[in-house]
Parts: sequence; structure tokens; C-alpha cells
Amino acid sequence: MAVCARLCGVGPSRGCRRRQQRRGPAETAAADSEPDTDPEEERIEAGAAALAGAGGGRGAGPSPPPRCSLLELPPELLVEIFASLPGTDLPSLAQVCTKFRRILHTDTIWRRRCREEYGVCENLRKLDITGVSCRDVYAKRINPRVKSGRFMKILPDYEHMEYRDVYTCLLHRYRHILGLWQPDIGPYGGLLNVVVDGLFIIGWMYLPPHDPHVDDPMRFKPLFRVHLMERKSATVECMYGHRGPHNGHIQIVKKDEFSTKCNQTDHHRMSGGRQEEFRTWLREEWGRTLEDIFHEHMQELILMKFIYTSQYDNCLTYRRIYLPPSHPDDLIRPGLFKGTYGSHGLEIVMLSFHGKRARGTKITGDPNIPAGQQTVEIDLMHRIQLPDVESLRSFNELSRIVLEVREQVRQEQQQREDGAEDGEGRAPQSPREPQRGPAQPSVELPAEKGGGPADGEAAAAAAPAPEQPAQSGQGQPFVLPVGVSSRNEDYPRTCRMCFYGTGLIAGHGFTSPERTPGVFILFDEDRFGFIWLELKSFSLYSRVRATFRNAEAPSPQAFEEMLKNIQSLTS
Ligand SMILES: [Zn+2]
Repeated sequence: MAVCARLCGVGPSRGCRRRQQRRGPAETAAADSEPDTDPEEERIEAGAAALAGAGGGRGAGPSPPPRCSLLELPPELLVEIFASLPGTDLPSLAQVCTKFRRILHTDTIWRRRCREEYGVCENLRKLDITGVSCRDVYAKRINPRVKSGRFMKILPDYEHMEYRDVYTCLLHRYRHILGLWQPDIGPYGGLLNVVVDGLFIIGWMYLPPHDPHVDDPMRFKPLFRVHLMERKSATVECMYGHRGPHNGHIQIVKKDEFSTKCNQTDHHRMSGGRQEEFRTWLREEWGRTLEDIFHEHMQELILMKFIYTSQYDNCLTYRRIYLPPSHPDDLIRPGLFKGTYGSHGLEIVMLSFHGKRARGTKITGDPNIPAGQQTVEIDLMHRIQLPDVESLRSFNELSRIVLEVREQVRQEQQQREDGAEDGEGRAPQSPREPQRGPAQPSVELPAEKGGGPADGEAAAAAAPAPEQPAQSGQGQPFVLPVGVSSRNEDYPRTCRMCFYGTGLIAGHGFTSPERTPGVFILFDEDRFGFIWLELKSFSLYSRVRATFRNAEAPSPQAFEEMLKNIQSLTS
């Protein structure tokens, strides 16, 4: 305010106050809804104000030349200036004087703030005129099966809406829930992206594709939405269940945490009772019926997940997560991947790089290894040279190679500990592909819906030949050893390189967790695998190509902190 007063050049703005006194309440209201109607008057007023400012506090004598004042500017220019300021600064600007306050009623200012700060492109006034009816706007946002006549009747009244209301009562008010989140739902976790979508704020839950199709795109469904049903009052609706949006509630508990609550959980119930709810859930979650799943242990796991997760009824607490920061030297671009986890189905794993190590952190989890835990850790200092394909078919041969590396790792660890005592250190060998151009990781991949697996292959083909002379640009042949089980027989048959790694295994309820040796196999920019030696099992991971908004970590430290936090919550 002090700054604005100085810009005005009039202190507490005599001119504006005078104007206020002159006007009756009706006139003020008219000016509010239809600002800047009399530029001539503004100029006169500004001149008077400038003179008052220039003469104020001085004795008699020649007046200095009038100072340039913001008030002298034509209103349309002031609108332009105000529209370029952050929306959060505008309320204090409105306190400077009546003129400023009046100008700040101009909705184009707020429209620009909505667009620049929150990406709102929708035009409140032209939703119907341009052929995009409110109905279409809504229909786009729901699963067609959810569409019901009931909802159509309760569309918001955009006629009397203003961008200022959208900005202050919706976007600004709920800005803290935008971004990427993990629900606290026992061991299962999850992935939620809260985004501004048109004139809505929508919480999209992302689900892996059906097991075992890791290359399929992620599925998503809305869990809640917030929008203005009337001026100055945002409505939170629960979107859970199959009976359309209904009354919900959002509470921002503390920084980086919020909770959702459903006020009408009867909307989640189905006429066919729990049986029907389970069958529907199963079809959505697994894409099949319980009869199709022959494996008894798998049936138990599925039933358990349904019973556990459905009791929450969309009343969940979410904690903020970030996408991993990337560095040009990373082995591949870090990010989210869909991975096969045997009877547990597909799970979402976050791959991040930490100097000599890469980590896979579970974003979704299971009763054995819960969400938040580090499922795989890759030792980028220790590459594993796979034998030729014939020898690779022998599990014992692979096992021998991996255990040798493990022994080497153990010995080096020992030496480092001894060396630390002697004050010596060894320079580590570089784990990276030496020929890798720094430009490659910055290549933007298309969004999940648009992109195909061809992009990853193109990137792999474009990558220069690896360091081994035996390997061509296509990589070396790869096959799973006999006896190693895989959910997906459709894994790549060539790989770029392999590293020693460890995988976390535990009993039910995360009992006796243990890091066990394994092999990390890099297939291409978008796919990797892990052979769990002790489990004689193989996990295939494929990149999540969906674009998540507001998901960048503010700093690498904030990312590390987040990883530590989500891990400690389930330990
Ligand atoms: Zn609900």
C-alpha cells in the first residue's frame, strides 16, 4: 500500500476521496459494475490529485513541475498494468483509493490472472455462444457411464459469475491442493493429481492399466471436484461411486496435506449390495471376474484389497509428492513407471537418481511391501555383463554372476570402511553411457493419450552405441533364465545394459523386510526390468507417459525430504 500511495503521488489520495463523497451509493454501485466510463473526468481528477500532491507540505513559493502520477494514466492503461500484477497483490492495491478499487472490478484483469496463474482458458461469457455448452463442459469431465440426468439439472449459473469470484473463491482458495498426492490408505497408496480443468478443480486418481499390460496407458477417474455453483461460494463434490457427483468436503489440514470427506456415502452403494459393488470394482480394477482368476492366493489378495480400501468411502488424507528432478547425466529420464508385481498386479513405482544409486520407490503398494518403501535399489557403480543368450537361459549361471558381484560389493564396502579409517578414498568409475548427449533427456515425450511406445524405441535407436564392442546400437540379446516367472511374456528381447541391484522383500504385513540381490536390466529409455534372484521372479516396468501438473519439486532437497517422509510413514 505504501508503494502504491507513493506511485499515486497523493498520499491518501484526496482526489479519490472527494469523488467518493460526491457520489451516492447507487452511483458507486453503477461505477463498480461499469468502470472507466468517463476518462475525461479521470484525467481532471488525476491532475487535481497531482497538484495536491505536488503542493502538499510545502510553504509558499513557486510550485515545482508536477510529478508524474499513476492517476494521470488513462484507465485502460491502469487496467493493463493491474492485470499484469500477481492476483495476490490486487487486494492491497484496492485499498489504496476508490479509483483503484473501481478499476479492480474490471473482470478482464481477473480473467488474465486466472489464465496466467492457473491456466484457465474457458470463457465464462461465451460458454454457450461458442457452441461449448455448460453441459458439454461438464460431460467432458465425467465417465460417460456416470452421466445422469440428475446431474444435468444442477449446472452452475455462469451468467452471473465473474472471474474475480473464480479467482478468489475457487482458484486462490484451493490453490494449496493443486499438484500430485499420495493417499494414506494402508499399504496400498495411490496417485492423485489435482488440476485446474476449465472452471473446475478436479482430483483425478490415476490407476495402473490392467495386469499384466504394463505398456497400456494409465487409467484415471475423478474422485472429487470443486467449482462455483453460485457467486462467492465454492462447492466440493464427491465423485466416488456410480451415482454422479454429490455433497463432499475438503479440509486443508496443514502444509502439503489435505483430507476429503464424503457427506453422502449412500451414493456409493449399489442396489445389488456389496456383491455388486465388489464385482464392479473387480471389473474396473482388474478387468475381469473372480472366476477368471484361478490363483487362490491372488483371489485372497484381491478380496482383501477391496474390503480394506472400500471402507474408506472416499474419506482420505493425502500427502504431497513430487516428481523426481532430472539431470542431464541420468541413465534415463527419471519418473513414474508401471511395474508387474506378481499376484499383487501392477504397481506404480517412482524411479529417481541419487549419485551412484538409482531408487525405485513405491507410489502404490501391497500388504507385503507397502507404498512409500524402496522396492528396488540399483548400484550404478556395478554393471553386470550378461553371458550370451544360451548361457543366460541357465538360472544357475546368472545366479553365479550376480552373487559374484554381490561379494565384490561387499568387499569394496569393507575396503571403504577400512579406507575411511586410513583417510583414503577411491574415485568411482562412471556409471553412465559416455556417448550420451546431454540434449536427450530434455526431449519431451507426448502425453499418455497421444504417445505410443514407438517414441521410446525411436529414442533408443537414436542413442549412440554403448561402450561394449560386442554390443551394437540395438543392444544385446536378452532372455529370461528358465524357471524365472514373469507376469508378462511380452518383455523386450534386447537390452542396453544391466546393473547389480537389490530388491526389497518381506512377509505379509511388511514383516522381516530384507534387501535381496537382483539384476536391473535397462531395455530402453522407457522400459526396465528387475530379476528377483531369491523369488525367481521378474518385474517389467514401463514409463507412465501421463503429464502431471504442479508436480515439480521446489528443490532437490524437498524431493529427498518427501521420499524420506513417505517411507517413514509405512515403516
Ligand atoms: Zn461420496
